[in-house]
Amino acid sequence: MLRITELKLPLDHTEAELKTAIAKYLGIAEADIASHLVYKRSFDARKSQMQLAYIIDLDVGSLEKKLLAKFKDDSHVLPTPDTSYHFVGQAPAQLSHRPIVVGFGPCGIFAALILAQMGFKPIVLERGKKVRERTQDTWGLWRKNTLNPESNVQFGEGGAGTFSDGKLYSQIKDPRHLGRKVLTEFVKAGAPEEILYIAKPHIGTFKLVGMVEKMRAEIESLGGEIRFQQRVDDLILEDTPDGNKQIRGVRVTELGVEGHPSSEILSEHVVIALGHSARDSFAMMHERGVFMEAKPFSVGFRIEHPQSLIDKARWGKYAGHPILGAADYKLVHHAANGRAVYSFCMCPGGTVVAATSEEGRVVTNGMSQYSRNERNANSGMVVSINPSDYPGGAMAGIEFQRALESHAYVLGGGNYNAPAQLVGDFLAGRASKDVGTVEPSYKPGVNWTDLASALPEYAISAMREALPEFGKKIRGYDMHDAVLTGVETRTSSPLRITRGDDCQSLNVRGLYPAGEGAGYAGGILSAGVDGIKVAEALAQDLLS
Ligand code: FAD
Repeated sequence: MLRITELKLPLDHTEAELKTAIAKYLGIAEADIASHLVYKRSFDARKSQMQLAYIIDLDVGSLEKKLLAKFKDDSHVLPTPDTSYHFVGQAPAQLSHRPIVVGFGPCGIFAALILAQMGFKPIVLERGKKVRERTQDTWGLWRKNTLNPESNVQFGEGGAGTFSDGKLYSQIKDPRHLGRKVLTEFVKAGAPEEILYIAKPHIGTFKLVGMVEKMRAEIESLGGEIRFQQRVDDLILEDTPDGNKQIRGVRVTELGVEGHPSSEILSEHVVIALGHSARDSFAMMHERGVFMEAKPFSVGFRIEHPQSLIDKARWGKYAGHPILGAADYKLVHHAANGRAVYSFCMCPGGTVVAATSEEGRVVTNGMSQYSRNERNANSGMVVSINPSDYPGGAMAGIEFQRALESHAYVLGGGNYNAPAQLVGDFLAGRASKDVGTVEPSYKPGVNWTDLASALPEYAISAMREALPEFGKKIRGYDMHDAVLTGVETRTSSPLRITRGDDCQSLNVRGLYPAGEGAGYAGGILSAGVDGIKVAEALAQDLLS
């Protein structure tokens, strides 16, 4: 196969015109192209005309050698690299040992899937409920102000990304194309094929729910087991002669059984893929002496604008073109006080959601459907913070987050409504009294107030500096009626459960900290990739 990169065509080109352009570029007849497929499609807006830029893989049969020689000095024509996934091993027919995977978010799903595909029949323990039941509980907070601390936006089948925009791109280095394996499995589970080739794919909430169920079914069909409402509340550890520990299993609280009995499940290989909100589990691991350390994260607000304003600023005369869809953006400003202010988890045509997993706290995040056709664009506008802002060791970041979330709950009125303020009032330093032209989408509702006390002063002043700067990049971004809703605290894990090159905890053998909660991923795709890496390391250890 041959690969052509940076082949550019106008937005409205036809399928036939793509083939013509390929043939023209290579100087061959269209009939010489046995087949071609789009590997990647992105937008190129560098000139005044918006274009589509393609990476194409094609089969030209026996012409391939000749063409490679002809284009030997053209870096846009090369042999197609192998991006397919190769398993690192296969389990023996007689399994003596089943690994445990704790958490069934994207990281746990992929760890379990890869282990199952290699024949290791993993046991998955997930504290939350199956995704359909979980959906009802999640809507309970959004519609009726009722939180279920064990079944919500953060906890349950599918993990934190289930009720989300489902953005599936990441900036991680991925020389082995593991991200492609994640996307390929998503397509097998019902995601639209386009996620394999468009530059910034997303799938939206409803599709994710069905996909998660299909992936569960595949793991089970390969001999894996997924046990819901099983919260891991303790690790069974044994001291080793070198002063470290070896994991021997986990203690589980059975939340779905009356009286919540506890039981033990033994295994010497445990993947711990908890997500960033499992604060009780982090505390348990900290008490057990598992090595962990504080790491930087970010806090801020959600900001909402009319989607049409973002489309116009980003796409200009092309706004509304069906191939472009709702526009996203990425913004960053380095404030005079040394803080970086940046857009986080931008959701075009979506809604702001209540994302707390703890009672008496308010946390914001964003989600959308595949169509991205809600009226508002929303994004986190967050400020970087460092462990020096919350001294006190590995667990101090969680207390820092909790204090902000509890205060936001009070500012919101003490009923899970979120505190909100118009951008104009935020910049002028006065409380907002009522909605302007942008209707906030946060459910159950908002309480208009002054957000100045919702974050540390350095974050507020950095944001006040950043907003007019962002307005220069996206005209209208600092419009008076844009809505700020607080607080966005769960941007990533405030700690890292550090692991070695073998993906095992630095001081507990057999324990594989993974995904976002362990500080090794940030987003659905990177969490899935990390799940694969950890599954591979675990399999290699089992096979060695
Ligand atoms: P999680 O998805 O958090 O999964 C961890 C799982 O572990 C949970 O299911 C939890 O119930 C379970 N668990 C925790 N403790 C225990 C225990 N003690 N015992 C048993 N089970 C336990 N990312 C994107 O890339 N694109 C987006 O568009 C996007 N939008 C988002 C929107 C929202 C509203 C939220 C909340 C997040 C969004 N994210 C998005 C972030 C993304 O969801 C996370 O990065 C990703 O889910 C992390 O995957 P994970 O598997 O590491 O952890």
